[in-house]
Amino acid sequence: MGKPTGFMEYQRCENKRRPPLERIRDWEDIYLPVEGEQRLQQGARCMNCGVPFCQAGVIFEGKQLGCPLHNLIPEWNDMLMDGNYGHALARLLKTNNFPEFTGRVCPAFCEQACTCGLYDEPITVHDNERSIIEYAFSHGMMKPRFTKNVSGKNVVVVGSGPAGLAVADQLNHRGHSVTVIEKHDRAGGILAYGIPNMKLPKELVQRRIDLMTDEGVTFVTGLDASDPAIAQRLIREFDAVVLCCGAEQPRDVGVDTTGVQGVYYAMDFLHAAVDRQQFGIKTNIPDAAGKQVVVIGTGNTASDCVATCIRQGCKSVIQLVRRGREDYLDPNGELPQDYAQEEAQAVFGEDPRVFRQSVAKLEADESGQLRGITTRDGQLYPCELLIAATGFSGCRADVCEAFGVKREKTVKTETGRYRTSIPHIFTAGDMHRGQSLVVHAIAEGRAAAIEVDRFLMGYTNLI
Ligand SMILES: Cc1cc2nc3c(=O)[nH]c(=O)nc-3n(C[C@H](O)[C@H](O)[C@H](O)COP(=O)(O)OP(=O)(O)OC[C@H]3O[C@@H](n4cnc5c(N)ncnc54)[C@H](O)[C@@H]3O)c2cc1C
Ligand code: SF4
Repeated sequence: MGKPTGFMEYQRCENKRRPPLERIRDWEDIYLPVEGEQRLQQGARCMNCGVPFCQAGVIFEGKQLGCPLHNLIPEWNDMLMDGNYGHALARLLKTNNFPEFTGRVCPAFCEQACTCGLYDEPITVHDNERSIIEYAFSHGMMKPRFTKNVSGKNVVVVGSGPAGLAVADQLNHRGHSVTVIEKHDRAGGILAYGIPNMKLPKELVQRRIDLMTDEGVTFVTGLDASDPAIAQRLIREFDAVVLCCGAEQPRDVGVDTTGVQGVYYAMDFLHAAVDRQQFGIKTNIPDAAGKQVVVIGTGNTASDCVATCIRQGCKSVIQLVRRGREDYLDPNGELPQDYAQEEAQAVFGEDPRVFRQSVAKLEADESGQLRGITTRDGQLYPCELLIAATGFSGCRADVCEAFGVKREKTVKTETGRYRTSIPHIFTAGDMHRGQSLVVHAIAEGRAAAIEVDRFLMGYTNLI
């Protein structure tokens, strides 16, 4: 039951970020993991409290309370404390298909709900999770697992982001034959081509795809299922179809960009950056080297753009934020900085955020090249590269039309269900709930897999 006095004996010790001026010189992981005895002590801080809110995973007063995957946190913290990585791994994998992703990019709702955090620092659940799965991979514990019970049913999953991968993993281990279709040249969705390498190294995404391939999942890349002929063929040839195409429809930049060069949506910019940097692929989208950059928006995507531009050697970067500074202050009245803002501060001497600002007009030269932007209060900023991290309004219409499923902003299902308007077509992830987080995509994928399994077999033993 954990070490009853652990939370009094040991202080919280998080994985530390590498110094900003050092890490901007490469594209490697920004964190230095705490390992060995110190990691076991972090497990021992978990007091196995009577009501572990950390794993509740409910919405309380409009906020996510605890882990959406209901990870069995006190159990694996207890095993971690004893250095029993094998058992900790078994309990972790029971509820989370991809801890190597959540252990890096999850905002850790568990820690916000941790009882220990009520009067002290919460347990380092997020970092403990990463430690368990990385120990397992590096010690040969993550071997392919096969099921003896083969159902004879086949399922196609369209889209290979975390939602699609979770559906595929669950249904494959259940004994169905699973094919994943991906329109891009590699599987992984935003994990593979959106989130930059320093936050989620791309070899880790490929490591998981390779493991799933060894376990029998078939991946077909470079195939766009929004082609009606392809969609109809998939509908005919598979017992069930699961659409996990993400929320790819970007929100408008909010200003007329006609004929102006140098304005890009964040996803296009980041995709090109990963392609160029990690895979040596040439792209038409320029990098930020030597440019004065303006990023519109806040959140993960905007920060990833700021950090990417800094690594590419931009001359300057600012971030236009629509809401006021006061909306972002912590309980101590201070403005927290994420990794990208910390880097901008170190390189340019100030936080990149400019609050209560949005773009009113673009200033271009005779050739159409962007030279500056004017904000709503009339301020002119020099700018040769404008990146719009303005969010996503929903999923794309073309793929929904090709499969004939009802869509408003996202694909319509009954509340809390995953079956679409067509009986053997299901949906999950951002395509279903709208732009969200990796942990929610995995949770959606697992929940959709239960419905698919019940549809195929008449019952389910998935959890
Ligand atoms: C830049 C960025 C940074 C982010 N950072 C974080 C973070 O730090 N932490 C966090 O928790 N979340 C983060 N998110 C959000 C998170 O990545 C998403 O919520 C998550 O990836 C959604 O998973 P998904 O599987 O539903 O969709 P996606 O990951 O978008 O995957 C959808 C897949 O479907 C494929 N597809 C689409 N249409 C077709 C078609 N017609 N045929 C075949 N394939 C198709 C796409 O190519 C894609 O591979 C970030 C998002 C972005 C954009
Ligand atoms: S998936 Fe996220 S919320 Fe759940 S235990 Fe891991 S870090 Fe916490």
